[in-house]
Amino acid sequence: MSSFTQQDQQAVPPRSQVEEIRTSLPIVMSDEERMLREAVASIASGFGPEYFFRVTEAGEPPTELWNALAEKGYLGVNIPEEYDGGGLGLYELAAVGEELAAAGCPLLLIIVSPAIVGSILARHGTADQKDRWLRGIGSGEKKFAFAITEPDAGSNSHEISTVAREANGGYVLRGTKTFISGVEDAEGILVVARTGRDEATGKGRLSLFIVDADAPGLERQHVPTAVEAPEKQWMLFFDDVEVEEDRLVGQRDRGLGAVFDGLNPERIMGATICTGIARYALRKASRYAKERAVWGVPIGTHQGIAHPLAEAKIELECARLMTQKAAAVYDSGAPAGEPSNVAKFAAAEAGIRSLDQAIQTHGGNGVALEYGLAQYWWTVRLLRTAPVSREMVLNYVAERSLGLPRSY
Ligand SMILES: Cc1cc2nc3c(=O)[nH]c(=O)nc-3n(C[C@H](O)[C@H](O)[C@H](O)COP(=O)(O)OP(=O)(O)OC[C@H]3O[C@@H](n4cnc5c(N)ncnc54)[C@H](O)[C@@H]3O)c2cc1C
Repeated sequence: MSSFTQQDQQAVPPRSQVEEIRTSLPIVMSDEERMLREAVASIASGFGPEYFFRVTEAGEPPTELWNALAEKGYLGVNIPEEYDGGGLGLYELAAVGEELAAAGCPLLLIIVSPAIVGSILARHGTADQKDRWLRGIGSGEKKFAFAITEPDAGSNSHEISTVAREANGGYVLRGTKTFISGVEDAEGILVVARTGRDEATGKGRLSLFIVDADAPGLERQHVPTAVEAPEKQWMLFFDDVEVEEDRLVGQRDRGLGAVFDGLNPERIMGATICTGIARYALRKASRYAKERAVWGVPIGTHQGIAHPLAEAKIELECARLMTQKAAAVYDSGAPAGEPSNVAKFAAAEAGIRSLDQAIQTHGGNGVALEYGLAQYWWTVRLLRTAPVSREMVLNYVAERSLGLPRSY
């Protein structure tokens, strides 16, 4: 979830490897998309914020919601059909993610398991790896976490110090990862580790490994955060964790391209968490502004209330469009770095603004838990920082899109 710098190249897979080629952005929603959105919204609203915060408070995974979605195949819509997925694309998974959040159930694990790990395995896994792990992601029966962030490397993922060295015909992993989401509910973790260093640039050569969540030598420590979501964050300690050769995903030392095939979906799905929460917040705010009368008229009559909500709605719709574009570009197999970064940035800002204005519209009730707004604050605020911070997106756009000199 840390970011790479502007120098990084995105590996574009041959078109033949992209399961579903999408070459245009559907501006008018298709019947299929509408049906998908309605079906997911119907399941999610049956659970809603009550369920979401009940499991969060109890420290339990949202198993019932996850299973209800998995049963209908919605958690693997982007996974190839031959691996028990829906055979569609990230565009459809993004629709699923947004509808969940719009119903008050923003699931972080949907970003990690089908979007990051599923996308990487689909594009870079061997037939055996797909059979072993992607199949479970496609059906929703297996969940995977993703570990790139380290305490010392920060946003500069070239500097990660978790090392995988060859031994006994496989690899031995040693190092520390932090803020890794959902490990408590995951069968395995896709870990980014250093397998060498480029002599010329000094940058780490990266490789990806699937590690069982209960592998000997892997310890974890809960990192408490303000984010109110069922998924917990963990510090992971790899103390000579042995993995077999067949746990290496993609080519050794050339994991950077494969990582990007997961980081762009992560940014896009992160964006959907924000646009979904924004929709949820504006829906509640509009209803409240119509019902709440203080000086004899509904507060929504006052432009001081109506205009900021209208502005938030405009910002939201632009962010949604950008997010859909990013997903469509990703599905097409074309480089998706710029649209994914722009979408994440726009959606985080739209989400924060919409939720903040919804809270303001509710007056004191905005912070009353009963009104179901304040609890989402840290989830949406998180997306300004993660999976890639707003500053690193601005660096990317300044340097890559505008051609300005690198600032660091
Ligand atoms: C709740 C939560 C869940 C997470 N889940 C996962 C997960 O599942 N897997 C995973 O691998 N990671 C995860 N992360 C980690 C997350 O992706 C990182 O926290 C995020 O990428 C920022 O990295 P950092 O915390 O190291 O910040 P730093 O890199 O230390 O940056 C600190 C600040 O400095 C700024 N900064 C740094 N460099 C520059 C620069 N060159 N120019 C301008 N500003 C700069 C940053 O924008 C930021 O504001 C999670 C984090 C949280 C809080």
